[in-house]
Amino acid sequence: MTTLYQERREDATVGTQTGETLVEIDGLKTYYGGDGMFSGKPVKAVDDVNFDVRRGETLGLVGESGCGKSTLGRTLMQLETATAGDVRYDGTDITTLSGKELKEWRQNVQMVFQDPDSSLNTRMTVGEIIMEPLNVHGWKTPQKRRERVRALLEIVGLAEEHYYRYPFQFSGGQKQRVGIARALALEPDFLVLDEPVSALDVSVQAKILNLLDDLQDEFGLTYLMIAHDLSVVEHICDRVAVMYLGKIMEIGPVDAIFDDPANPYTNSLLSAIPEPDPSQEKSRITLRGTPPSPRDPPAGCVFSTRCPFKIRPEKYEDLDDDVWEAVEVFREVLRERSDVTKSAGERVRELLGMETKGMDVEEVVEDAFGDLNTPSDVRQTVDEAVEYVERDDLESAQETLRDEFGSVCEGEQPEQHQVGGTDRVSRCHRHREEYMDTQEYLRTHDFS
Ligand code: ADP
Ligand code: MG
Repeated sequence: MTTLYQERREDATVGTQTGETLVEIDGLKTYYGGDGMFSGKPVKAVDDVNFDVRRGETLGLVGESGCGKSTLGRTLMQLETATAGDVRYDGTDITTLSGKELKEWRQNVQMVFQDPDSSLNTRMTVGEIIMEPLNVHGWKTPQKRRERVRALLEIVGLAEEHYYRYPFQFSGGQKQRVGIARALALEPDFLVLDEPVSALDVSVQAKILNLLDDLQDEFGLTYLMIAHDLSVVEHICDRVAVMYLGKIMEIGPVDAIFDDPANPYTNSLLSAIPEPDPSQEKSRITLRGTPPSPRDPPAGCVFSTRCPFKIRPEKYEDLDDDVWEAVEVFREVLRERSDVTKSAGERVRELLGMETKGMDVEEVVEDAFGDLNTPSDVRQTVDEAVEYVERDDLESAQETLRDEFGSVCEGEQPEQHQVGGTDRVSRCHRHREEYMDTQEYLRTHDFS
């Protein structure tokens, strides 16, 4: 039954070695809009991304909703057009392919989508759905295509009698199996799995992940696994890339990153996973505010508006942690208010449990600084900013605070630094020699 694949498994191992580069991503940017005269600033969904995908590996891609994971995956498939940079697949720059070449190349790469309901055509039988890519590419004869579809049904754990059924007759897990069968139809080498199990019941998730794992071994597949559930990544990925606001903040082997995250954003993401053994409980890092708009990302480090590890100006290195946090909260409130890219509705949200929209600025300050023992120079700058806000000059208020409390994190984009061995990089100013590193900062400051 699986003979179609046995042929190809032999080919797949000829001249290839696990670990060699399959996809090279270099300076990749994918922006939406911003090219018309009235369209305003573009959405920088993917903004200067560099990494490799190695043959035979499962590379996880994680990050909060809206950080650009799907756009990155779709750009690798050429379903979105890159704004800049290139993607080399097996040495060929695919961002320049078109027409027949593009169609031919497409056979090598496929995508599995999060929601099997919307990705499967409800008016087609399961057999027709799986056969569709074979028809589009004029694969062999109609007879061979039918055989191929039957083989694929078996490969993904479905039965022959499912051929003539419709998607609505299937459970979520079965539908995802159909999506996987369709993705495998043309014998691809590389699959982008865009949150393939997040729409499924927990009990079904493991079965689908096991299936993907078996298929990878059997057919020598390479996966980019997009996930927001970190436990999925921990269990099935070899390496992981952590994304925030269009950028890869850290990338490296899963074990190393989970044991000892180097980047502040990775630290924050991982600290949100409950620890099974309470005696091992790490301090929880709560992120304040919301990610800035990708239309208007921060000028320095993209994470700087929310980073609990942000480098302070020298003058305030020893400032009480709670006062520093109050300053940061105040700044975040002003940033949210000034974010013209957000609708009024979006702006009305809770920030640290407080509703800030209708709140008078004096109240915000009162709430943030409360009865903290605030040094007079801090207080003076905050008061100055409050005055500007009261005169409706948000920009000067923000500038005043930036001049006093800003640091390299807001001024310069961090470079990628090698951290903990040759196979890991992280983008953060804290990796520079002159600054205290993330772990040391975590030990010496109050995160409660
Ligand atoms: P993720 O998959 O991480 O949730 P996406 O790649 O879907 O993120 O989206 C990244 C950003 O790009 C978001 O701000 C989103 O609103 C925006 N975006 C996604 N698709 C489009 C589109 N077709 N047009 C305009 N903006 C888009
Ligand atoms: Mg997505």
